Amino acid sequence: MEIEPVIGLEIHAELNTKSKMFCACPVVDATTAEPNTAVCPVCAAMPGALPVVNKEAVAKGAKVALALGCTINRVSIFARKNYFYPDLPKGYQISQYELPLAEHGAITIRTAAGERRIRVRRVHLEEDTGKLTHVRTESGEEYSLVDLNRAGVPLLEIVSEPDMRSVEEAKAYAMAIRQIVRYLGVNSGDMEKGVIRFEANVSVRWKGSDALNTRTEIKNLNSFRALEQAVTQEIARQSELLRRGEPVIQQTMGWDDARGVTVPQRSKEEAHDYRYFPEPDLPPLEVSSEWVEELRAELPELPYARFRRFQEQYGLTAYAAEVLTAERAVADYYEAAVEAAAPAVPAQTVANWVTGELFGLMNQAGVGIAAVKVSPQALADLLRRIAAGEINNNTGKSVLAEMFASGKSAAEIIAEKGLKQVSDEAAIQGWVEEVLAAHPKELETYLKGKEGVANFLFGQVMRLARGQANPKVVRQVLMRNLQERRKHLD
Ligand code: ADP
Ligand code: MG
Ligand code: ZN
Repeated sequence: MEIEPVIGLEIHAELNTKSKMFCACPVVDATTAEPNTAVCPVCAAMPGALPVVNKEAVAKGAKVALALGCTINRVSIFARKNYFYPDLPKGYQISQYELPLAEHGAITIRTAAGERRIRVRRVHLEEDTGKLTHVRTESGEEYSLVDLNRAGVPLLEIVSEPDMRSVEEAKAYAMAIRQIVRYLGVNSGDMEKGVIRFEANVSVRWKGSDALNTRTEIKNLNSFRALEQAVTQEIARQSELLRRGEPVIQQTMGWDDARGVTVPQRSKEEAHDYRYFPEPDLPPLEVSSEWVEELRAELPELPYARFRRFQEQYGLTAYAAEVLTAERAVADYYEAAVEAAAPAVPAQTVANWVTGELFGLMNQAGVGIAAVKVSPQALADLLRRIAAGEINNNTGKSVLAEMFASGKSAAEIIAEKGLKQVSDEAAIQGWVEEVLAAHPKELETYLKGKEGVANFLFGQVMRLARGQANPKVVRQVLMRNLQERRKHLD
């Protein structure tokens, strides 16, 4: 019998607010800022310091929740999640437990197996912990450094229902969530900086059963690769137990990224000892429905909707629509270029140039769309010149490379390098005659009936013209010349 995995994800996404969740300290880059420079009595947990909710964090969190199709609770409650760890100076984390910010959403994900809806159980606000750095000196001395810059940074936890049935789906869901928070501009999506982290809940069952069997939870997944590897391994481990008829023990595991293995951390008994209780220093969080509607009105077109619209409106393939909507800035770039290039240049042609040439240049240079010096209008201008026959397609590619490198306009480069395509028939007639005179043997073969030789001769004319001749005119003039010579034979 076949085994089916059941996966639910808890995704933590930091919110890129100006200040922290409950104090006025700035949110700084955890990987570059000098340690412990963005800390105050509130986030350092001095006795008597009182938290105040950051409205911008609530707004950004609510926007994510709305984008995930959730209902925002008019009242939600902050709670203390008690546990001891050196990166948590208060001895508890302020989170939301019984009444979260939002509930009951769903998003559409795509895998090779097709599209599926994955339900979002809840979205709640909490605060991030500090960061520990474990040091081991050459003499073998060991100690840990505590950086509280991250302590108190707003953190959004997005909890799915156990709706994913494969590693591919888990990865697609995680990527879709990252794409959405980036579209909303509330999180950079920069995985190396730890601004998005995953926890995976995994169980297995015989296919056809709808039982929710005992699960394990894997923490500390900081990349898509880690998510993929950890879940794959855990499915394999549990499948083996299921086949042997042995029980899965409910437990929390940690992912050891360096070794690429999961390690058991603690059994669920201890893990559940958080003793949540309502945060006495914060009143219930109330959001009015007017404010929620204001936030909803500010939502941009979301990735999935844009992906569908690109296919319908521009006639793009699913693949092109996917890569062009992967990032909001790329999609904006593409649409601006389409608009500027119309009506002379079809949207599909623009898509080919962006996904082919432009992405190629970006990959080579290792830069994202924000660093591209060619504006969408400048690209459109280039494509219009190609459509008008001013330069041919191949010359256009080298002009784009030059525009990309220097930021110059197509017009400047074409003028500077004398790249203008020659459509003048007299000039082309001269080149054709030269080529025919230089290749008497090939000409003879053609005249005897080998039509294919015309392509060789065409190539020779283009070469002589250093690629600058208008290929359409070259073909016309060449064929006219060849036909005339055939007539002479008759
Ligand atoms: P807890 O509060 O103990 O973390 P929850 O019931 O809230 O547990 O679930 C946490 C996550 O685990 C959710 O993403 C949920 O979808 C997932 N989950 C729950 N039961 C299972 C199961 N049997 N198999 C896989 N995932 C599960
Ligand atoms: Mg959990
Ligand atoms: Zn602070």
